Amino acid sequence: MCRLIFIMVMASLLAACSGNSRNGGQASRDDVAPEGCLTRGIGEWEATWIRDVDTRQSPEIFADAPEGLIDSLGLSEGVPSSISVFLLRKGDTSMLFDAGLGGKESRMLPLLDSLGVRANDIKYLFLTHLHNDHIGGMLSGDTVVFPNAEVFVAKKEYDGWMNMPNDKKAKAETTLEAYADRLRLFEFGDTLPEGVVAIDASGHTPGHTVYKAGNLLVVGDLMHGVALQLGHPDICAAYDMDKPAAVESRVRILKLAGQEGLVMAGMHFPEPGFLSADGQ
Ligand SMILES: [Zn+2]
Repeated sequence: MCRLIFIMVMASLLAACSGNSRNGGQASRDDVAPEGCLTRGIGEWEATWIRDVDTRQSPEIFADAPEGLIDSLGLSEGVPSSISVFLLRKGDTSMLFDAGLGGKESRMLPLLDSLGVRANDIKYLFLTHLHNDHIGGMLSGDTVVFPNAEVFVAKKEYDGWMNMPNDKKAKAETTLEAYADRLRLFEFGDTLPEGVVAIDASGHTPGHTVYKAGNLLVVGDLMHGVALQLGHPDICAAYDMDKPAAVESRVRILKLAGQEGLVMAGMHFPEPGFLSADGQ
């Protein structure tokens, strides 16, 4: 089953790359998209991949990979990756999934600006988990970056981090405290604003969350190296906190995407940011 999903998804990815890679062959809001951005229509939503930081993953983080596999896939110099966020727009509603790394390297805010979206416009901010490369862009110094956003986090993720030692949880605690009056904790399976559904994808972190918005599946850190893990979902990245749970989530979510023909959006996917299981 995994191999079948891998073949379907890779075929779709290649089709997307060989077509109009600027807008993924779908309706685009902008004729000239800035580098590191790609907008495609997915159902009623305009979904935009925004590359916050261009990066590669060191093969060393995939220590579980059988010897020779990484070389045989041509990945010994690094696995193509990124730190990305996703913007969904419909009418006047703009919502963001994760907030990137923040700091000097971050391109999220200038890219949002180039799309005509200001930080003030973000109505909902959905967090897949509380690692720094996903919440770092929520504060600029001590200042809240998204002053009008309701912030959504799985209760299991929030509780998991708040029970960690002080040095580990400091960033997450400080950041979420700054948004305390607009912080919404949810249970897996809950339907959130705009019909977004929260799906349990625990393992990478205590309450790592995948979000389904129509035919879009925002998969967070389900895969740090798509080129490796799509065909080998049993391989974990060093960052996966509970590896057996991470594998179970990866296999289950990939199966869901394949069966329902969902487009995956991953926070560490390389360009074009989206990965279709249904050829669209
Ligand atoms: Zn991450």
